[in-house]
Amino acid sequence: MAQEISFTPSTVEQVRAAVADTRASHPRLLVTGAGTASGWGAPAEPADAVIDTTSLTGVLKYAPSDLTIAVRAGTPFTTVQETLAEAGQRVVLDPARARRGATIGGLLATADAGPLRTAFGSLRDLVIGTTVVLGDGTVARSGGHVIKNVAGYDLAKLFHGSLGTLGVVAEVVLRSHPLPPAMCTVAVEAGAVEAFDLAGKVVMTGLEASALEWSGGRLLVKLEGTPEGVEQRERELCRLAGATARVLTAEEADAAWAGVAAIADGVQGTTVVRIGTMPAAGPVLVTRMVAAGAAVASSMAIGVHTVRFAGGDHDELLTQLHAEFGAAVTVLRRDGLSADRGWGPPPAPVRVLQAIKRQFDPAGRFGAGRFSPWLEDEERAS
Ligand SMILES: Cc1cc2nc3c(=O)[nH]c(=O)nc-3n(C[C@H](O)[C@H](O)[C@H](O)COP(=O)(O)OP(=O)(O)OC[C@H]3O[C@@H](n4cnc5c(N)ncnc54)[C@H](O)[C@@H]3O)c2cc1C
Repeated sequence: MAQEISFTPSTVEQVRAAVADTRASHPRLLVTGAGTASGWGAPAEPADAVIDTTSLTGVLKYAPSDLTIAVRAGTPFTTVQETLAEAGQRVVLDPARARRGATIGGLLATADAGPLRTAFGSLRDLVIGTTVVLGDGTVARSGGHVIKNVAGYDLAKLFHGSLGTLGVVAEVVLRSHPLPPAMCTVAVEAGAVEAFDLAGKVVMTGLEASALEWSGGRLLVKLEGTPEGVEQRERELCRLAGATARVLTAEEADAAWAGVAAIADGVQGTTVVRIGTMPAAGPVLVTRMVAAGAAVASSMAIGVHTVRFAGGDHDELLTQLHAEFGAAVTVLRRDGLSADRGWGPPPAPVRVLQAIKRQFDPAGRFGAGRFSPWLEDEERAS
């Protein structure tokens, strides 16, 4: 076996050279960013070489009037936000891992997002262009620097959540939004079923919540906009939600959202999964998870639930969840799981996943093990 080596490229050309030059000598590559999600998915198998993107940093082009910013993929997300904030803008994404230094490429590769996904989607919706390096050294560009764009395949959506199995994301063009002049958080005491009903009403009455997150027995509703608009919607929301609704102070709101992020982060000894459901299935799932002793942060309106279990031995539960929700269950932290990686039967979309893998990485160079056992046969065959 080839001796493991590590590359820290700082340009696309250096990424290309590292990938192309190692085709024969170091065929199996592992792409790493800040390491904040190296435990997501199944564990990576040992690789011959590591492509470390933490030096692949910097803003390439920022056009505030176009609301777009191009960055190298290893740039920490917080750096992107700081740059945008100087011009009164932001990328509307609030993943828990941002505080721990997550890179923009790593966030794209893990399809991560926070409570703001309710109104603004995930990076799938916020990335408008990518430059990727494939296993044969091909540099592929898709999308561009303008929001209105249609020509060519939208590769970013394939790389979204690919866990480093298709190639190296080297550059990313993001769309930005203006920072809201005002925001507030209203907390409503409610059980999961009641909160789901209220979340539905909030959506239907056009209150335009940026985030609707149920956690710890209360629904947190974030409102953003002009000061007058926020105030008016805040009043309407309190009327709609009844006596237990309360507008949080800025400090209380920060603490409440930090609590939501902490569930995704997990702590030593916990198992954390993110489960996607149809929104209507949310209350039943959340009630079940809470009864099983889990801490839950649930984006109720869109059916994305982050679930944290303390203690060990959660394989049986994970098998059940996989059987029920298939590829929509992502493992974020695995301290309470055995090393065995097979949880339930592979879901139907796995065949599409395998076909995409064959097309983009026919030599099986990238991220072996990360979708194990679903891609395993394909990887072994190549
Ligand atoms: C590569 C590419 C990417 C694009 N990306 C986007 C995008 O992302 N988002 C977006 O909104 N737009 C996009 N567009 C533009 C979009 O296709 C055009 O804006 C849209 O087709 C209207 O253009 P037009 O007014 O020039 O009409 P045309 O495209 O010239 O015509 C539209 C239709 O109306 C008919 N027509 C035109 N004039 C008349 C007339 N006087 N009488 C009867 N029928 C008529 C034409 O025969 C045609 O069927 C893109 C275009 C291209 C080429």
